[in-house]
Amino acid sequence: MSVPVRTPLFWGPKRLPVPYVARWSGELIATGGALTVRRDGRGLAYEDETPDDRDRHGVLWARVGRAPAEGRPDYRAMHPARQRRAMLELLCQVCGGPADRNGKGWLFALRRPGPADDIPGWPEGLLCTKPPVCGPCALLAAQHCPYLGDPVFVRSRKPRVWGVFGGAFTPHPGGGLAAGEDGHLPYGHPAAPWFLANQLAVELTRTTRVPGP
Ligand SMILES: [Zn+2]
Repeated sequence: MSVPVRTPLFWGPKRLPVPYVARWSGELIATGGALTVRRDGRGLAYEDETPDDRDRHGVLWARVGRAPAEGRPDYRAMHPARQRRAMLELLCQVCGGPADRNGKGWLFALRRPGPADDIPGWPEGLLCTKPPVCGPCALLAAQHCPYLGDPVFVRSRKPRVWGVFGGAFTPHPGGGLAAGEDGHLPYGHPAAPWFLANQLAVELTRTTRVPGP
């Protein structure tokens, strides 16, 4: 088990660990008013768009203010910029330090699949939006995270950047935009210009289920 390089933030009367990727109530979603249709009519844009609003594949990202530790943590919501950074740099989603890696790959704590998700070969090829974890935080998450329940620990030798999770928009004939349902979109997809990303999705490949961190 690796020594934690960082410790997570603890919050509230119960001193619960708050994941690095969690969004705080002080971090306001600032997408709404600025979202518009590109001048050529062929996709989404921000009225005051800057290069930071798109990733290296040209996909537009949701805007959320950055004020970690302000207000209350929302354990069910991830901050788009911190989630993306943790995925790209393979940082622990709880403390933000380096994720645990050994010969079998990087460590992920996954929600145990239900009987309805009986997929042969699971979790090989699984699309994952929850960044990896370090050893000590894997145990913390298993103890405290209500979403995980009794988690399955998986190592992936090759977590491959696959695409994004977010929502598609369609332009109204009379102006304005209609939001569609949330879902995954692979990089390079023709629908990408109308897609607003809020999480990076990686594909877990060369996976091994392991008993723990
Ligand atoms: Zn950690």
